[in-house]
Amino acid sequence: MSVTINCQCGKTYQLKDEFAGRDVECPNCGTVNRAERTVAQPQSDAVYGASAVAGSAASLALGPGPSVGASGAIFGLMGAIVVFLHRHRKAYHLRDGRIGFVVAAWAAYTFFLGAVSPMVDNGAHLGGLVGGALAVLATRPRAALSPTRAS
Ligand SMILES: [Zn+2]
Repeated sequence: MSVTINCQCGKTYQLKDEFAGRDVECPNCGTVNRAERTVAQPQSDAVYGASAVAGSAASLALGPGPSVGASGAIFGLMGAIVVFLHRHRKAYHLRDGRIGFVVAAWAAYTFFLGAVSPMVDNGAHLGGLVGGALAVLATRPRAALSPTRAS
């Protein structure tokens, strides 16, 4: 497996997989690019959409009344990240595994805050979290390697 870098200068070059997550200098123009793992846009959109629908449905089913906000979908992304990183834990560096743990801890903390505040729709949060996790399982996004510009 290799990492394909498409530099802004138009040059395309291949790197070994162990360069994922590192900054690499283009041999043609000197621009520093970062090789990062990504998920394809259609799959990301599907996960976000499923999370929003699941969060809204759970809000209607479990909530005391109508509510507004995007937090159900955001929770869906958190559930998706945790499941995705766990599924691909061998393909990622330890740092990325820690990101999954931090996201899971943040979701748990936010659930706690929602449980003690009557203004928070935890039904939407729970629905979005489960919807995002299930959407990742259903769409099975792969850990792709794609470059982004290093800042
Ligand atoms: Zn270049």
